[in-house]
Amino acid sequence: MIPPADAREIVPALFVDDLVAAIWSPTDGFAGPSEVTNGFARRARDLGARILEGVEVKALTLDGPRVRGVVTSEGTIAADVVINAAGPAARLVGRMAGLELPIRPSRRHIFFTEPFPAIPGPVPLTTDRGSGFYFRKELDRVLLSPGDQQDMGDDLSSAVDWGRTEEAVRKAIHRVPMLADATIAGGWAGLRPLTPDDHAIIGWAPGLEGHFLAVGFGGHGFQHSPATGRYVAEWLVDGQPSLDLSLFAPDRFTHSHATPTDHGPDAE
Ligand SMILES: Cc1cc2nc3c(=O)[nH]c(=O)nc-3n(C[C@H](O)[C@H](O)[C@H](O)COP(=O)(O)OP(=O)(O)OC[C@H]3O[C@@H](n4cnc5c(N)ncnc54)[C@H](O)[C@@H]3O)c2cc1C
Repeated sequence: MIPPADAREIVPALFVDDLVAAIWSPTDGFAGPSEVTNGFARRARDLGARILEGVEVKALTLDGPRVRGVVTSEGTIAADVVINAAGPAARLVGRMAGLELPIRPSRRHIFFTEPFPAIPGPVPLTTDRGSGFYFRKELDRVLLSPGDQQDMGDDLSSAVDWGRTEEAVRKAIHRVPMLADATIAGGWAGLRPLTPDDHAIIGWAPGLEGHFLAVGFGGHGFQHSPATGRYVAEWLVDGQPSLDLSLFAPDRFTHSHATPTDHGPDAE
């Protein structure tokens, strides 16, 4: 926790007169989602995984309470374990197994400016906890988000609503006044898969066998992805993860907790 004046030393463009304190986390960092995802995929292929791109899961093959595989747009695949890791589509995939997962896809926008040298980089990811606005420097441009949340229900489109630029610009100019001179050059939107308590759902699907859930990663799923991959792999291969993941128990919303091996493929 640091005084507002110290925050302005770290990010000189900040307006801090209405702040009582700031939070500074010097060990935080950035990583490129595309590079990281391609890195995971390359290593998985090296180790023998087959990744089928552009193939959609249409249904799960069920044999009573046991999941036996998936029916895809390119045929049926039998499997001892099927993992739902479908991000914002996790609720739809869950319904294929008769589950109603409490995942709400919530749309959020990020905009970027024309090159803006008036704010030199690097700038750490800086969030206005009051308004939700956040920004940082990305090469010579400024990335900024209004921190918007729009519940999309079962609509998984992530089209940009350009009306959101006004909200982004208003919040930006309040916290970083010199952004009044910047020009928005473009933007995108994405869906954050939110859960009721903002934590992911990781574990065997309650009431089913051979079906594992790794869903609901909200707005922090990218930074959790290396750990999630490691502990889910341990859980499935070794029988349990080396870290206590009970915080993420799938049945916590119904108040009856499963243990890690309750519904595993070897638990029959
Ligand atoms: C604007 C925005 C900013 C964000 N910023 C950050 C950030 O700074 N840091 C951070 O850690 N996180 C951030 N997040 C959150 C992060 O992007 C998500 O938590 C993360 O991507 C979730 O990963 P996932 O693997 O669970 O799902 P996804 O990355 O969504 O992957 C799910 C995959 O499942 C596939 N799929 C879905 N349905 C089917 C089907 N029926 N058949 C076959 N495949 C299917 C999809 O095609 C997709 O490839 C942000 C999100 C948004 C929208």
